[in-house]
Amino acid sequence: MNVGVLALQGAVAEHIRSIESCGANGVVVKRTEQLDELDGLIIPGGESTTIGKLMRTYGFLDAIRDFSAKKKPIFGTCAGLIVLAERISGEESAHLGLMDITVARNAFGRQRESFEIDLAMKDWDRPVRAVFIRAPIIESAGSEVDVLATYRDGIVAVRQEHLLGASFHPELTDDNSMHAYFTEMIRQYSA
Ligand code: GLN
Repeated sequence: MNVGVLALQGAVAEHIRSIESCGANGVVVKRTEQLDELDGLIIPGGESTTIGKLMRTYGFLDAIRDFSAKKKPIFGTCAGLIVLAERISGEESAHLGLMDITVARNAFGRQRESFEIDLAMKDWDRPVRAVFIRAPIIESAGSEVDVLATYRDGIVAVRQEHLLGASFHPELTDDNSMHAYFTEMIRQYSA
């Protein structure tokens, strides 16, 4: 199984390590042609405005929309979640606009810009270790979206068919359960 990590900006190496610990092959993705070899794609955290601009410059917006139209799984974490969203609170336009969610950027305020918690996940038998760094919150989600986790009344993990999103960074700890869940999604969609 080949799982790409979009390497325009942000936390790439850590996702590669996490995905490889799940037995998949991690691919550093810098060119749109590479998407053809992939079974799934991770869009990492970083800075969503920068990632969005670079995606536009290098043709990734249409290429990733095509990838998604083939029902190939995509996992967006933190800034990656923001670029997947259809709506960004207080901003005119979105980036990929694939997930039926509204996100608010930097939603946890100054004094809690970064924090780490054990987060309960819906239907999982144990919590996931989650690192939040200037994280977004999902303010609302459409009826097709399954809410996987909430924190303090806000939604922080979601799934919509083949699309997975998390407000936090699952790649910065030794807990690879989110990546294991994503590789299982890929298995289901490529079966
Ligand atoms: N605050 C960043 C943004 O709005 C996201 C932060 C992150 O990815 N850790 O794009």
